[in-house]
Amino acid sequence: MKQYNTIKAKYPDALLLFRVGDFYETFGEDAVKAAKILNITLTARNNGGDQTELAGFPHHSLHTYLPKLVMAGCRVAICDQLEDPKQTKKIVKRGVTELVTPGVALNDDILQSKSNNFLAAVHIAKDTVGVSFLDVSTGEFLTAEGSEEYIDKLLQNFNPSEVLFSKQQRKRFATAFGDGFHTFYLEDWVFQQDYTAELLQKHFDVKNLKGFGVDHLEAGTIASGAALHYLGETQHNNLKHITKLSRIAEDEYVWMDRFTIRNLELYHSAQQNAVTLLDVIDMTISPMGGRMLKRWLALPLKNPEKITRRHEVVSYLLEHPQWLEQVQQHIKKMSDLERLISKTATGKINPREVVQLKNSMQAVVPLKELALQSANESLRIIGEQLNDCQLLRDKILETLLEEAPVAIGKGNVIAQGVSETLDELRGIATGGKEYLDNMLQRESERTGITSLKIASNNVFGYYIEVRNTHKDKVPEEWIRKQTLVSAERYITEELKEYETKILGAEEKILALEQELFAKLVQWLLQFIAPVQQTAALVAELDCLASFATHAKTCNYVRPTLDDTFDLHIEEGRHPVIEQQLPPDNPFIANDVFLDRDNQQIIMITGPNMSGKSAILRQTALIVLLAQMGSFVPATAVRMGCVDKIFTRVGASDNISMGESTFMVEMNETASILNNVSERSLILLDEIGRGTSTYDGISIAWAISEYLHEHPSRAKTLFATHYHELNEMTETFSRIKNYNVSVKELKDNVLFLRKLVPGGSHHSFGIHVAKMAGMPKIVLQRANKILERLEKSHSSDELSDKMKDIGKDELQLSFFNLDDPLLVEIRDEILETDIDTLTPVEALMKL
Ligand code: ADP
Repeated sequence: MKQYNTIKAKYPDALLLFRVGDFYETFGEDAVKAAKILNITLTARNNGGDQTELAGFPHHSLHTYLPKLVMAGCRVAICDQLEDPKQTKKIVKRGVTELVTPGVALNDDILQSKSNNFLAAVHIAKDTVGVSFLDVSTGEFLTAEGSEEYIDKLLQNFNPSEVLFSKQQRKRFATAFGDGFHTFYLEDWVFQQDYTAELLQKHFDVKNLKGFGVDHLEAGTIASGAALHYLGETQHNNLKHITKLSRIAEDEYVWMDRFTIRNLELYHSAQQNAVTLLDVIDMTISPMGGRMLKRWLALPLKNPEKITRRHEVVSYLLEHPQWLEQVQQHIKKMSDLERLISKTATGKINPREVVQLKNSMQAVVPLKELALQSANESLRIIGEQLNDCQLLRDKILETLLEEAPVAIGKGNVIAQGVSETLDELRGIATGGKEYLDNMLQRESERTGITSLKIASNNVFGYYIEVRNTHKDKVPEEWIRKQTLVSAERYITEELKEYETKILGAEEKILALEQELFAKLVQWLLQFIAPVQQTAALVAELDCLASFATHAKTCNYVRPTLDDTFDLHIEEGRHPVIEQQLPPDNPFIANDVFLDRDNQQIIMITGPNMSGKSAILRQTALIVLLAQMGSFVPATAVRMGCVDKIFTRVGASDNISMGESTFMVEMNETASILNNVSERSLILLDEIGRGTSTYDGISIAWAISEYLHEHPSRAKTLFATHYHELNEMTETFSRIKNYNVSVKELKDNVLFLRKLVPGGSHHSFGIHVAKMAGMPKIVLQRANKILERLEKSHSSDELSDKMKDIGKDELQLSFFNLDDPLLVEIRDEILETDIDTLTPVEALMKL
């Protein structure tokens, strides 16, 4: 316990797994916590007077229990025995060999293959915020700097598993970025410019950070240094695979704020298990491709040339289906190259994984050949840069056995011919069979015992077995070891000598294999950079192949990019909804045209559930897909690149989030109005709904007017059920009215889901009430009231009307039983004793 307490004191914030023999034990509060999370038994041990709680599990179950602890948000310090207990008489030396935290994990059980596992660090400086994202499992290391809003968007996008900040910024962090992350704070001194710069320079072995293009990002590099510092603190010291620090170039990517990302359900959805855009479009085959696709989705491009290059490749792939299929066949053969090479660097790779690394690189050979043969230049460039690392493959092939096991230390790892000593030792260990056969024959002849047998077991080692019938012939010098029912087992001097030799050889083999394997892993470190580069290129190919496969399956077309400000979508579809509809109810495609000169703002009216939001979202998704380099769900799209996408949904859709909804809605809308650019695409869905009708209409009107008059002339789609907004077209020339058409049947509304020019003339709430099965009498009344209200022109007039309603009508009002006209009836009803009323009397009364 003394040893335990000393180690635990060094890791007060972590749950300490303390190796004791074959178990990992936890004590005290850690035990209480672990027992709860892992559902294992909590016991107590009397510890010189004090009771200590205790909970543990067998060491070989670490890979099942560790992920559970980490996913529950624990930081776990693994304390191992650092020497062989057999070699020491005192207490075994122990120390923490790894600190696993949610953001720093290399364990396959914790990592998801198609997602990065980012550790983030945030540094809030005077007038900017720096952030850094580091995935120790892939070696990616990124940094950025910008406004709080920008960093918030990046945090949403990169979805780090753990976020670091300094102790003194604890409160500020929570206010700015919320409490949705696993967080950890470091001492303030870590976040110092001198310290972090020196740490980064030392790691990359450079004089300054100019080469990475990040030297001007002071807050960003402080955050990056802090992340690197944390790796050291968590005992991750072999980090050769972190080869560069890259800047996330804000100006290269389409700006989407957190709300837009959430609202478009790109890769998270408000409802659990709902299908996201990523789910629909992800047809990547490799883990690295899956991760890259996610990145492409989070950061769509703005540069038309770069986008067009991706479109060209997708076209090429569609025109050459056989080529595409072959490429995918080869990618299928590859394991997660990025994570394999990271494991090599961190020394956590096992023999079987090294063989996988070789086989994966083997698949690069035909892939490279294919790419080089292609008629598309971008593909040839990829081919040129793919590195199949022949030396690496040869070395692994000649060093390791093809069937090498996961665990080193059990033999059968190193191939024949690598080490003479090893081959010799193996000769002794396996050549034994012949020796034993000889011995058996010799002894059998000497003693005249015909049924002798030589074998071994764990308890007695090697022995000679004699059946009871021959017991009397056993020579004197044999030593009896064990008596069975029908036989006796003996050892001889010769057998004992033989055993020592074999056991010695086996032990030596294992030690030598370990040594040779470690040497191989060390040698492999020279290939980190080329393997990483190849992995990235394979990922890129995989993403482009995924675009092509998806385009073909779902009938997407290539969008045309030009330098106009137009957005022309013909027969556009919603990529996710169209997948979910049954065949007998296919998705209805819609055209959307927006430009700067004639049709800058479209007012879309239509009843609830008619498909307004779907049109808004599909427009944004089509633009996004196009700018990722993908084909799009439409029959034709021509567009100028968009640089910002804004989406806002009116308050009542937000209520579940429990925010002061109208205020939030206005805040967010304000931020759009302050940030619009000429190339922005703005989607406003029922903005203004969160307040009273007149308020709402006025605000929605003013926002639209502002966007119309603003010099940016940003393209805008505005879905609203306030048909009053249709009046705007009379004053504002670039606002156009459209509605999602419906057909009114006798007592129903049929959704046609077609966007057609023209406004709506009335509200559809009453239709919806009808569909919901509201009693007819309520519907009739509602229609009457509506008719009257619609005739009023000012709010005073309106409230006068309200007072009149009910008085001049002989229709019963539910709401006004004190009306003199009704008092008599009311009193009669109340006086009726329905308990004693016969059916006939009741009928009469009615
Ligand atoms: P609104 O915003 O007008 O209330 P939504 O856009 O939310 O309506 O659409 C309601 C539902 O109608 C969607 O969930 C979808 O299932 C269906 N839908 C919307 N647009 C279409 C369409 N074009 N074709 C087929 N179904 C559609």
